[in-house]
Amino acid sequence: MARTPIRETTIELGGKRLPVRLYRNKRARRIILRIDGRNGDGDSNGDGVSVTLPRGTPPEEGLKLINEKAQWVLERLGGLPPRVAFADGASVPLGGVEHTIRHVPHKRGVVRRQGAEILVAGRPEHLARRIRDWFRKEARSKIGRLVGDKAAALNRTAGRITIRDTRSRWGSCSAGGNLSFCWRLVMAPETVLDYVVAHEVAHLAEPHHGPKFWRLVETLTSDMEASREWLKLNGEALHRYG
Ligand SMILES: [Zn+2]
Repeated sequence: MARTPIRETTIELGGKRLPVRLYRNKRARRIILRIDGRNGDGDSNGDGVSVTLPRGTPPEEGLKLINEKAQWVLERLGGLPPRVAFADGASVPLGGVEHTIRHVPHKRGVVRRQGAEILVAGRPEHLARRIRDWFRKEARSKIGRLVGDKAAALNRTAGRITIRDTRSRWGSCSAGGNLSFCWRLVMAPETVLDYVVAHEVAHLAEPHHGPKFWRLVETLTSDMEASREWLKLNGEALHRYG
């Protein structure tokens, strides 16, 4: 799942330097270009392109293809949702409701929610990390509770719950019943988080995405179709925070 690039470089496109990550996939039948708007991986080098190369295709051909598709790449990059850094005054969603981040250097405590504000104490250079840690903690406690309730409803027991910053999937369930979730889900409306938990918990009973599986998910959450649609439309934007 977490792939490692075979090469990381930059390319000049439309007067900008774009980061490019090249990957190898033996099963790929052609070169695949993707817009890579990832965030929160430590370097703020920003939006770029990922290139998946089939077996035997040299990286240079991937870079050539980016140039050939320059207009498409630049249009897609321009259409990405805005990036919102975790900073004083920034507006970020929590449970689908916008909250304003306030830096309160002299207040005690680290991070707490007060009405529609998220108050962060401490030094300004630690603010972003503190918010991120706090969101993770919120995700862990909310998801932990939901997993417990839903697994009990199915008469199953979940294994370990891991909270990650996954980009390709919102959640996963291993063969051994361990569950993993992306902390960014805590920003989504609660019904959406509820659906993703229901989805993974349902895998404890039914590994495959057949009709039986979807019927089971529907018994565990109230708004399955709307939540799936929400993720399709808005999921990408959740990766633009922090
Ligand atoms: Zn699934």
